[in-house]
Amino acid sequence: LQSRLPSVGTTIFTVMSALATEKGAVNLGQGFPDFDCDPSLVDAVTAAMKNGLNQYPPMAGIPALREAIAAKIASIYDHRYDAGTEITITAGATQALLTAILCTVHPGDEVLIIEPVYDSYVPAIELAGGKPVFVQMEVGPNGYSIPWDKVNAAVTPRTRLLMINSPHNPTGSVLRESDMRALSDIVHNTNIAIVSDEVYEHMVYDGARHESVCRYPDLAARSFVVSSFGKTYHVTGWKIGYVAAPAHLSAEFRKVHQFNVFTVNTPVQHGIARYMADPAPYLDLPAFYQRKRDLFRDGLKTSRFTLLPSDGTYFQCVDYSAISDMPEVDFAKWLTSEIGVAAIPVSAFYNRPKDSCIVRFCFAKKDETLRIALEKLARV
Ligand code: PMP
Ligand code: GLN
Repeated sequence: LQSRLPSVGTTIFTVMSALATEKGAVNLGQGFPDFDCDPSLVDAVTAAMKNGLNQYPPMAGIPALREAIAAKIASIYDHRYDAGTEITITAGATQALLTAILCTVHPGDEVLIIEPVYDSYVPAIELAGGKPVFVQMEVGPNGYSIPWDKVNAAVTPRTRLLMINSPHNPTGSVLRESDMRALSDIVHNTNIAIVSDEVYEHMVYDGARHESVCRYPDLAARSFVVSSFGKTYHVTGWKIGYVAAPAHLSAEFRKVHQFNVFTVNTPVQHGIARYMADPAPYLDLPAFYQRKRDLFRDGLKTSRFTLLPSDGTYFQCVDYSAISDMPEVDFAKWLTSEIGVAAIPVSAFYNRPKDSCIVRFCFAKKDETLRIALEKLARV
């Protein structure tokens, strides 16, 4: 068989989690919480199961969940999506991203992506026959930022899609209003669609607001907004998320979606719809994770790691050049095996290997886990 994805191997997340397990290391690599979700969320899902809500739901998702999502978006981002035609429930953000790409990109189309980039984007573009065009973020004293002039220079008549991710995995950077204005200027008068990966929308710190593309009417009109309940409700294994997009884009999305998964887990949809009636869990999330971020950053201040900013997500990147000049993959493996803390090399988020002595830690962990990890990291 001739591979459709010849350069794809096992993801770095799987590799580092397996190594962490093998070595008995604290796993700050793969991004997932080591604490459980709210028991009342589990109760809401099991109640749906016990009430016989166990057969296929409507293709786009149950109306109650789509309405809850539309209401949430309207209340926090001041943009009203039509629950019937503009919101589709997906099997996590990963399926949403793949489906959005498959329904937009034709063979030979160019897709502009910003590096470092989440690992599912490029294979998804390649499966669609598209050509990824890379623009690298720049790193300065204030952390990572997107050089919009370079993004603009990379636009060609073949550019079909532009993908952004804020808050950003792995850098923890967050797009600001000025970024959104720059993005609007670039796509103005083009037919470029946008995929906006906002899975960490409720993890923005220090009082800043999340700049969803749907706050900006000219961007909302051309965007697929992707989010994931896995991140927001501490249930990464449930694999449920959604896409919000104008009706003409959602219609194309659903054409692919219905032959990709057709529908998504009924009782989980009912459980989340009920749970969403209370906004507290997502409104409280920034404070919840900001405290963990600060605990982790404070603990690292006396170490030999240099902290990069973490303005959003549950990731903290560190520069280890004062400790070692090992390539990032080797350093992450060494840290896991010899020090007992797993991390993710940021080089894994680049198309061509790029070594900057930066690794990513996930701080979505119990305080106790973070303290154990900090003790070990202080010895490096
Ligand atoms: N996009 C980004 C930026 C992510 O970090 C993740 C989760 N690691 C995903 C998409 C995928 O989310 P899900 O688990 O809901 O498929
Ligand atoms: N999104 C998670 C991370 O960045 C991992 C998801 C996965 O294992 N594919 O760590």
